[in-house]
Amino acid sequence: MSRGDVVVVSGAGLSTDSGLPDYRGSGGSEKPSVDFDMFTGSHTWQRWVWQRNQETWRALDALAPTEGHTILAEWERDGIVTGTATQNIDGLHVKAGSERVAEMHGSFTRVTCLDCGEVTDRAALDPRLRELNPHTVDDPDPANAAILAEADYAKAAESTFTVAQCASCGGTLKPDIVFFGEAVQAMDEAFDYARDAKTILVVGSSLLVMTGMWVVTQGLSSGADIAIINRGPTQADRLADVRIEGGISETLAAVDKILTG
Ligand SMILES: [Zn+2]
Repeated sequence: MSRGDVVVVSGAGLSTDSGLPDYRGSGGSEKPSVDFDMFTGSHTWQRWVWQRNQETWRALDALAPTEGHTILAEWERDGIVTGTATQNIDGLHVKAGSERVAEMHGSFTRVTCLDCGEVTDRAALDPRLRELNPHTVDDPDPANAAILAEADYAKAAESTFTVAQCASCGGTLKPDIVFFGEAVQAMDEAFDYARDAKTILVVGSSLLVMTGMWVVTQGLSSGADIAIINRGPTQADRLADVRIEGGISETLAAVDKILTG
């Protein structure tokens, strides 16, 4: 393989080895989550979203990349992978060392200000929120991570959480995770990667969330082959040149062994 060969499209199945639940980004959601209009229109929902975010942030922050993330980062360093378009918000591609990553659904590692647009590091907000809310109890189980907060109004109305304001402008802060009803991020970057790809490698996504399918479609129209590793069917199975039913880390490890032999 040569430079420019492989662009990765990754989804929740890549991260489930690390203990994360599936991202309830779109479709398949058992309970509705607080959407963008609810968040922007109500202090009650803002308190609740930030309470759930703070309770589960440390568990997300402590997650380690899976073997699959590590192999993909090595392939990027080796020039095999030229870019990754991910539906995951867990930041694990970046933590594993990948540098060309389009985080289409945002990242829990960042915070955005809805008023001045400044994007800041979520870690820097942690001590401020802790000081404002000294009684917050951390939930250490990543399976409970409130990637998006459940839209439970009774619980939200009971929240006494104190939200922090933007340190620059005093405006409203929001986790930089794409909510329902909000524009996705980094699609230009994702399409740029796909346009130059010879192979689109889908890992751990059913492609029911449209962002992933858009990147696959871009790859197809640029003449790329499609390879899929996933447990369960995907929206692109009929378009795939190679289709492997299996776990991501073990399959990538087996391919890596062949490549680096
Ligand atoms: Zn601001």
